[in-house]
Amino acid sequence: AAPVVAVVGRPNVGKSTLVNRLIGRRQAVVEDTPGVTRDRIPYDAVWNGRRFTVVDTGGWEPDAEGRAAAIAAQAEIAIATADVIILVIDAQVGATDADEAAVRILHRSKKPVILVANKVDDARSEADAAALWSLGLGEPHPVSALHGRGSGDLLDVVLDRM
Ligand code: GDP
Ligand code: MG
Repeated sequence: AAPVVAVVGRPNVGKSTLVNRLIGRRQAVVEDTPGVTRDRIPYDAVWNGRRFTVVDTGGWEPDAEGRAAAIAAQAEIAIATADVIILVIDAQVGATDADEAAVRILHRSKKPVILVANKVDDARSEADAAALWSLGLGEPHPVSALHGRGSGDLLDVVLDRM
């Protein structure tokens, strides 16, 4: 079976927008209101002739309740079933407590984690990405999922880790 990449992170950080970049088509649903992607949705992708599966997840709030907790559970299952995990952070917001909780869970999973600093829409915002070194997940990879900035470099990194 093709390797599986799970895209996780808080609601509204741009996971579904990034999934569309990674698969090269607009299939994942992007919304301005958080919580639209409720399940783990797999999409087939190809990069440099290699096939893989990208799994979009609902926004992950590790201490959420109710429906949000169900979404978080889906994200946890996505992590368990993935070969590589992409943790998306909104670089314009910076790392939140929920992001740091996610990092702790990902550390425990012992899976390879690629840290993505999303919403780095221009060169001036690169410093926002560099600030995420503090999360202890290694190099933050700056991208603008919205504009496509950095997505080719990110795909190269993802394939290196598979
Ligand atoms: P999700 O909840 O994590 O799946 O986030 P979405 O992909 O649905 O995006 C949430 C909002 O962030 C939408 O309004 C997107 O257009 C916006 N967004 C996503 N990526 C970027 C980006 O790289 N730059 C900017 N400025 N906005 C983005
Ligand atoms: Mg989404």
